Amino acid sequence: MQTTIEVPVLVVGGSLVGMSSAMLLGHYGVQSMVVEHHRGTAIHPRAAQITQRTMEIFRTVGVEQIVRKKSAEQFVQDGAIMGVESLAGKEIAYYIANLNEGIRDLSPCERVFISQSLLEPLLKQRAEELGAELRFATEMTSFEQDATGVTAQIRHRDSGETATVRTRYMIAADGAHSRVRDRLGIRMLGRGVFSNSITIYFRADVGPLLRGRNLSVIYVINPVLRGFFRIEIPFTSGFLAVIALGDPDHPNTDVSAGLTDQGGLDLLHAALGVDDIPIKIEDVMRWQSEANTAERFREGNIFLAGDSAHVMPPYGGFGGNTGVQDAQNLAWKLAWVLNGKASPELLDSYERERRPVGEFTVEQAYSRYVTRTAPYLASKGFQPVAHDMNVELGYCYDGRLHEHPSESKGRPGTRAPHVWLSENCSTLDLFGRDFVLLAGPDWKAATNLQVHKLATPELLSAYGITSREAVLVRPDGFVEWRGEGCP
Ligand SMILES: Cc1cc2nc3c(=O)[nH]c(=O)nc-3n(C[C@H](O)[C@H](O)[C@H](O)COP(=O)(O)OP(=O)(O)OC[C@H]3O[C@@H](n4cnc5c(N)ncnc54)[C@H](O)[C@@H]3O)c2cc1C
Repeated sequence: MQTTIEVPVLVVGGSLVGMSSAMLLGHYGVQSMVVEHHRGTAIHPRAAQITQRTMEIFRTVGVEQIVRKKSAEQFVQDGAIMGVESLAGKEIAYYIANLNEGIRDLSPCERVFISQSLLEPLLKQRAEELGAELRFATEMTSFEQDATGVTAQIRHRDSGETATVRTRYMIAADGAHSRVRDRLGIRMLGRGVFSNSITIYFRADVGPLLRGRNLSVIYVINPVLRGFFRIEIPFTSGFLAVIALGDPDHPNTDVSAGLTDQGGLDLLHAALGVDDIPIKIEDVMRWQSEANTAERFREGNIFLAGDSAHVMPPYGGFGGNTGVQDAQNLAWKLAWVLNGKASPELLDSYERERRPVGEFTVEQAYSRYVTRTAPYLASKGFQPVAHDMNVELGYCYDGRLHEHPSESKGRPGTRAPHVWLSENCSTLDLFGRDFVLLAGPDWKAATNLQVHKLATPELLSAYGITSREAVLVRPDGFVEWRGEGCP
């Protein structure tokens, strides 16, 4: 008889978002099982720009420092995001001169660059420490759901061994081509696919072409191609992503069609602006540039998270980060429901909160794509580009979608602001496990909540309260309530 495994949460897909989900569920005391088709964590670098918000989430679960350490081994940090005609040639624009300049006061954490191939093993280790069961080379082949949960079939790719998993909730972190989403009949809505893109992974000594510049993302816009470079320490390897070829007004966006080795080399030469340095192409990955959001993030006991819920062009570095935010929003709610501390209605708020933010972020990535690389799409319309901090830290759950994080001042539905309490302790370090009440010195009410007094005018002002008021912060660091008395 086939084995049946019982687990509170089954996570389908063990890449950035699936692994983050397992880690966060473990942090909140929930056992999960992750099934991942691949035999190990990511081999392709893909996401590398990690926002302050993602680092704050990593700080909560104790991996911020190791992520920072590893990131510094891989990329120069605090680099620029800029555009060139070619690496050797003319500079076009600097979109961000220094990745952390002007934003350090907003968070205890910094933006870092670390690729998925280096990040995922760190998340995997932490997820395992926190009790997640990770099954690689294992595919979820089918599932059925009923009123009380989901029954899924899993199969080991090498041994062919199969098992049944019975779970109360399932998270579909199975990527842009989510089969769970397709099977549930959930459509993707948005701007569709606008390029069959490629990423060329290469080795070449490009250090001299950097000319001492500290560059994190280098957009390339010239008559041959549009795309972007990311280059790793010691500047002898990196990738070139290409999203369009030829005539800037009427480009060929089917970049992957018929690509030859020589074609790949020609693109690299055109992007580097030199054709006399030895280049070795290590791999070519094909992917689609698209800007779409799932029409629903939930079907019964199944939740979409990450690229299965929203796919955006990699302009702004938002895709993976938005998925980690999904995982955080969902993990504590599942924990509260599974542990009997909240009714299942709490789970309705996942889609209510995350779908508008996902859609907004998709549009913001698209706007950056159009303005930085694909002006030929401008005639179809696009949202004005919002401040990066509005997208990364200032996304809100109160219907406004976004605002600058320095303006939210503890308003319900926004991320609780960071203020240093001591050299290494931020207000954010008070959150992350349970509901927490931050109260002014004259606040008086009886509560069994964990209460921290806000002792200084600076803290009261950061949270927008008088000395008689208090602020209730959720386990994900978002403000739930603010006022006098008790929530
Ligand atoms: C060139 C490039 C650069 C990028 N740069 C950035 C960046 O700087 N910052 C950023 O935030 N984002 C970036 N992104 C986007 C980022 O890579 C994605 O948003 C992120 O990988 C999404 O993670 P995910 O876990 O949701 O999906 P995926 O990474 O696609 O993972 C899904 C996983 O599910 C597994 N799976 C699918 N079906 C099954 C099944 N039935 N059973 C078992 N396993 C299954 C797959 O094997 C896969 O490993 C970039 C993307 C590209 C292409």
